[in-house]
Amino acid sequence: MSETIQAVRGMNDVLPGESTAWQILERVARETFIEYGYREIRLPLLERTELFKRSIGEYTDIVEKEMYTFDDRGGDSLTLRPEATAGIVRACIGNGLLHNQRQKLWCTGPMFRYERPQKGRYRQFHQIDVEALGFPGPDVDAELIMMSARIWRRLGLSGLSLNINSLGTPDSRRTYRGKLVEYFRDHASVLDEDSRRRLDGNPMRILDSKNPAMREIVAGAPLITDHLDPESAGHFEELRRQLDAVGVRYEVNPRLVRGLDYYTRTVFEWITTDLGAQDAVCSGGRYDGLVGQLGGAPAPAIGWALGEERVVELMRLQGQAGDESAPHVYLALAGAAAESAGLALAESLRDAVRGLRIETNCGGGSFKSQLKRADRSGARYAIILGDDEVARQVATLKPLREAVEQRQVPLDGLAGEMKRVVATSGGVQD
Ligand code: ATP
Ligand code: MG
Repeated sequence: MSETIQAVRGMNDVLPGESTAWQILERVARETFIEYGYREIRLPLLERTELFKRSIGEYTDIVEKEMYTFDDRGGDSLTLRPEATAGIVRACIGNGLLHNQRQKLWCTGPMFRYERPQKGRYRQFHQIDVEALGFPGPDVDAELIMMSARIWRRLGLSGLSLNINSLGTPDSRRTYRGKLVEYFRDHASVLDEDSRRRLDGNPMRILDSKNPAMREIVAGAPLITDHLDPESAGHFEELRRQLDAVGVRYEVNPRLVRGLDYYTRTVFEWITTDLGAQDAVCSGGRYDGLVGQLGGAPAPAIGWALGEERVVELMRLQGQAGDESAPHVYLALAGAAAESAGLALAESLRDAVRGLRIETNCGGGSFKSQLKRADRSGARYAIILGDDEVARQVATLKPLREAVEQRQVPLDGLAGEMKRVVATSGGVQD
């Protein structure tokens, strides 16, 4: 036997028993986006490496050590997208979508980061991403957050809490940055290696350090909320007022800076205590400088991304992962004539009964083994067709989950029976 081939580390298969929850999440998100007037955009998984260097920032974990970057056969440096925002901005600029227009967009799919794989942290993971480009806020900031809150409600999730903060403008940040550098220089001896490097490059990134040893020094650092320019402070206040007005609860967390360089003003993160260390399920923020930084006419923008693996795990833990859709009926076929009539019979029932889930026995097998498969499929009924029944134009309808006698039904009466079965079974779960 040949050796088996392993999947790539940190890259998961979503197995059939798990995919229902993914479908529910993606359907709920899609329906919500449509209801708020957001439209889908689909983008390549590969972008020029330059795009991420220029947007995410050189002194970030992603660009420093997490990107899947390679030269293609023509010698161009390409990178598997580690996040969606940069690609969306690139696409909007390149396709003229921001010429006298604003855009409310969403996008979903796999992202790639070379991180240390662990629970809730993978090398290929999936995001659902939403962006509003051309809107200065704070109304749209509030709308985006309300939309995420609605998605949690629709998924039946609880225990999620919202942290918000404002990072101000690049100008007010410069002042704050000076204060921060001063503070961290005074404590340079206790900084870890990453933080020391970032002290010159981007000291705010130190606040986002994942190293527990840095917690104490970070806790004593000056607060950005004490150094906001008046306009950003007003923007932040209005955002809070809008959230209060619809009862979306939040906590102002002045330490929240977010992992990417491009954020300005509003940043936020939904966290949970149910998932252990990987507690952020959805994060986002405003990035008013990014469109200009990537060569477009300057336009304010904001977006968020949720991590599907983490949300699906939360759905599973909270019993909201849905049921797999078992077939309503399993069609067992005993004999050559029945086998040759079976697929056509199933097709005619599907034509007649919208939503009927009927699984046809494929590949033959003894009557006994077919009934075993029928049982294992989770179906409520088996339709049994033998050669003798084909000749008489009848089938046997056998309940598999109730103590009710099986009975014979004329083939042309089966559709009516199946309509009743569908009507009395729970709706399709996804
Ligand atoms: P974290 O702090 O957990 O590293 P992040 O700040 O890097 O998250 P973002 O870049 O804002 O995350 O991505 C948005 C969301 O995507 C996160 O809130 C999280 O749910 C999810 N996510 C990020 N990285 C991963 C990963 N490696 N594996 C699984 N999900 C991830
Ligand atoms: Mg990260």
